[in-house]
Amino acid sequence: MGKTPSLEARPAAGARLGMKEARSLWDLDLLTLGREADLVRRRLNPENRVTYVVDRNINYTNTCISGCRFCAYYREPGSTEGFILDKRELAQKLDELKDHGGSGVLLQGGLNPDLPFAYYEDLVRQIKDSGLGVHGFSPPEIAFMSQRFELPIKEVIARLIDAGLSSIPGGGAEILADRVRGQISPRKCDSARWLEVMAAAHESGLKTSATMMFGHLETRAERLEHLFKIRDLQDRTRGFISFIPWTFQPGSTALGGEPLGAVEYLRTLAVSRLVLDNVPHLQVSWVTQGPKIAQVALKFGADDFGSTMLEENVVAATGVGFRLTREEIEALVQQAGYEPRVRDHRYQLL
Ligand code: SF4
Repeated sequence: MGKTPSLEARPAAGARLGMKEARSLWDLDLLTLGREADLVRRRLNPENRVTYVVDRNINYTNTCISGCRFCAYYREPGSTEGFILDKRELAQKLDELKDHGGSGVLLQGGLNPDLPFAYYEDLVRQIKDSGLGVHGFSPPEIAFMSQRFELPIKEVIARLIDAGLSSIPGGGAEILADRVRGQISPRKCDSARWLEVMAAAHESGLKTSATMMFGHLETRAERLEHLFKIRDLQDRTRGFISFIPWTFQPGSTALGGEPLGAVEYLRTLAVSRLVLDNVPHLQVSWVTQGPKIAQVALKFGADDFGSTMLEENVVAATGVGFRLTREEIEALVQQAGYEPRVRDHRYQLL
């Protein structure tokens, strides 16, 4: 009779963790957790490469009715500091990205009640017509459009796909536990709605990422609740292509507090890799952790270095200012012992 693998060896051997076993992962020492997550990474992504995408984040508006307590970026409707991106400014940003060899745009914005639906369609069309991919509109934005324009979620997504949308970013998930959402973002969609939008996107043929912003009011148990919700939906739809956990940055936010340290980031990254056995890719967050911890994260289950982020405004608003060029990303990946490869937003190698 075969020997049953130990708890830590089970995910590496392809066995699925239940909630009780996942809870006990927190008891493992840091390096054991990292080693086991790395084994799962190698089972799912055996090639010795680390991917990244050349893109920029474009925020089309900072006006937002949600008022999330962790956000330093938004402005209330009517604020003199509010903006809406126009076609000319967008064209400049797209030209700049193309000059840098970019393949796509990560398009996100606040929940702005002054925008007509045609504005979103025109944005997507302009980016698509310029030859770039559109990775756009996180689930709270799509849920907001559905409510505001009284359209079913599937129809919002279908119209955006018609305009040229190619994939959806997994933002706005924060922690998919409504106790936490009620405290940090009470006016944003709840976890069931977030998952409903993702299910509709997957059923419409779009690939999406999923994120988790942690290190604020949530417990470790609620982080696991988040991971299991993602895993359960993925079992049904197979539409999540990557998972991106990152730590809350408290600077200039109403929530405030201290940022979570690198050790807890690495532990949570590794636990994510071990629980999410059905999500192909796991991304480091150099924007919040800096380049050195990002290199270490490649030994804790991650196989993707994220994006060059020619432009990033949301984390920058909290005062965290890490910036990396394409050359620096390649050097960091090589120094960590991997081959850097450029991909697009759908993780196709370029
Ligand atoms: S996180 Fe997004 S939804 Fe929340 S306040 Fe900021 S811009 Fe608005």
